[in-house]
Amino acid sequence: MSKSSAPSSPGICYLVGAGPGDPGLLTIKGKECIEAADVLVYDYLCNPEFLRYARPGTERIYVGKKAKDHTLTQDQINELIVKLTREGKVVTRLKGGDPVLFGRGAEEAAELAEAGVLFEIVPGITSAIAGPAYAGIPVTHRDHASQLTIFTGHEDPTKEETSLDYAKLAKADGTKVFLMGVERMEEITGKFIENGADPETPMALVRWATHGRQQTLIATLGTMAAKVKEAGFKAPAVAVVGDVVKERKNINWFENRPLFGKRVVVTRTRQQIGVLSKKLRTLGADVIELPTIRIEEPHNLMAFGELVQDCHTYEWLIFTSPNAVDAFFKMFYKIYNDARSIGGVRIAVVGPGTAEKVKEHHLAVDLMPEKNFVAEGLVAALKDFQNMENVNVLWVRGEETREVIANELTGLGAIVDEAIAYRTVPEKDDNLEAIARLVNEGADMITFTSASTVECFLDLNIPLPAGIQVASIGPITSEAARKRGLTVDVEAKANTIPGLVEAVLEALK
Ligand code: SAH
Repeated sequence: MSKSSAPSSPGICYLVGAGPGDPGLLTIKGKECIEAADVLVYDYLCNPEFLRYARPGTERIYVGKKAKDHTLTQDQINELIVKLTREGKVVTRLKGGDPVLFGRGAEEAAELAEAGVLFEIVPGITSAIAGPAYAGIPVTHRDHASQLTIFTGHEDPTKEETSLDYAKLAKADGTKVFLMGVERMEEITGKFIENGADPETPMALVRWATHGRQQTLIATLGTMAAKVKEAGFKAPAVAVVGDVVKERKNINWFENRPLFGKRVVVTRTRQQIGVLSKKLRTLGADVIELPTIRIEEPHNLMAFGELVQDCHTYEWLIFTSPNAVDAFFKMFYKIYNDARSIGGVRIAVVGPGTAEKVKEHHLAVDLMPEKNFVAEGLVAALKDFQNMENVNVLWVRGEETREVIANELTGLGAIVDEAIAYRTVPEKDDNLEAIARLVNEGADMITFTSASTVECFLDLNIPLPAGIQVASIGPITSEAARKRGLTVDVEAKANTIPGLVEAVLEALK
């Protein structure tokens, strides 16, 4: 993957298939292209969650059809990617599904080729095959179909005559899949039947396939058009026609999971959100990722560095959040290049999430509360462990963290230094689509993983959709929510991410 750091390096444009929507269905190469990008040019059908793989400062240009202000024509998109690539940039052009299956990827490639700039095509998983698979419909099957025909339901509207030969299509063996066909369902199924296809042929329509909000409509060639009208079924959907649809009754795996059909909002930082949303998605939930907070360097980075440098002189290092651990070791390895420089200091953490982070750095945790994973619990555990009189402690914390640790430990006679490792600020970027979904489609539950996620969410002033339940990771977060007038419906028993997921499952399943 070419990096653009050297100013003299030539630009390159990657035409990347971003897959049909499930964030796990981006290819490894596609992800590498996002990581390498100076500019991301992305579309309506491409999952905005991929933006988290981009390096900080990567320029993002949305050229999707649903763009609010204005829509770029295909010519303008072509011009844009050629111009950016000529400027020497690494341009990653993300398209839904596969870039060359009804995605105009070939036209963009031709423009880049004509302009004489470097480009690569990075294939993606197409909705034409993955969509049916997520509805429990294999596009080929030894018993039903040894042939697959894929066609578009929406040709270039400027074409005078259709280039599709429905007489041949209707008679073709095997499975037929068509994209962009919802609006013309009556016309397409009608032409099939006119041309001799059996109206009883099984048919499925899969909307927002592979996303948590996937919906599937099952009918026959003869009945689908009426069903679409009746259900008010809208694009984007992939249509599949053939006996393979019968397999769904045996292998409908995706829509049978416990939280399928439930929409859950997650509000952590863009870097941390993935762990929680992945767990919820695995259970079948439709997750809206709405990061409300972001972690930034502390105001006084120098003071933080000095305390980290002296960390080996303390008896205890105390971490009260995973972010504190990350910030600490980032600084530690800027100062030292040998892990042993940490010396014999003992490590105490507030709970399992923070402990996990410490273990990622190959250090053992000496102390953690047994169940009460809050500052008070940690102070109690330390007090049980030893007399804290005159014990030197370095507490690594966020700027906004509650003062409990310092106050109570000082009260016990300890000498506490506070290393302010990071600060939490409201996340303002790239949330428009998530907010629009929350407002327009509503949600069953919103999850909060810290008091700051509550505060920053409420500061966005988004009207809470009717019927939405509030889930909190623990007592401190719940208290923050109640203070701001929210009713907390669900509180995790174990104050951890897995504990929160369990509580959500219990409440919604
Ligand atoms: N290149 C894309 C297709 C682009 S055409 C691909 O390979 O998937 C756009 C059409 O693709 C939509 O109108 C719809 O028919 C289909 N499509 C794309 N993503 C989809 C999804 N997640 N669920 C259902 N249909 C989808």
